[in-house]
Amino acid sequence: NRDTRTVRDYIRTIVDFPHEGILFRDVTTLFADARGFRMAVDQLLTPYAGEPIDKVVGLEARGFILGGAVAHQLSLGFVPIRKKGKLPGAVLSQPYALEYGEAVMEIHDDALQPGERVLIVDDLLATGGTAAAGIKLCERLGAEVVGCAFVIDLPELGGRKLLEGLGYEVHALTE
Ligand code: IMP
Repeated sequence: NRDTRTVRDYIRTIVDFPHEGILFRDVTTLFADARGFRMAVDQLLTPYAGEPIDKVVGLEARGFILGGAVAHQLSLGFVPIRKKGKLPGAVLSQPYALEYGEAVMEIHDDALQPGERVLIVDDLLATGGTAAAGIKLCERLGAEVVGCAFVIDLPELGGRKLLEGLGYEVHALTE
């Protein structure tokens, strides 16, 4: 009676959230399970074993939960990239396109040093707009993005193609 559930088995789908017609992939059920959360964090960082990484960068908000755990496991510091207006210090701002309109992500302007190698973490890759904005912020500070790690990739939305086309390594635990 060994537990054979995979990361995918812990993810719940909520119909019509946040809008009618949307299937929302909910990772709170993954995070809430000790075995599931441990498995997800371990699988996010294993591709980077032996790679020099200086900092883990998490994208608001579920990227904080995953990225914090990944950073701790690797004994690295953690840097948050947040939605506009949330970070208290001096920031760099990066606008990016949403399906309707525009959003802005921000990073503290002293959070990364030139030449630092960073791993970006978030729960889900859809169009790739959020991750691309995060990458840009890291690079504007002179850091090098070693990879982008997600629990879920929605391949039909093109995020992986976008990021790989820009030359970044994408790693996802499930589609
Ligand atoms: P993108 O910018 O289109 O790639 O969207 C990715 C961002 O939207 C990530 O920060 C995700 O957390 C969030 N997101 C989009 N769809 C979902 C979903 O179904 N579940 C959880 N997060 C989602």
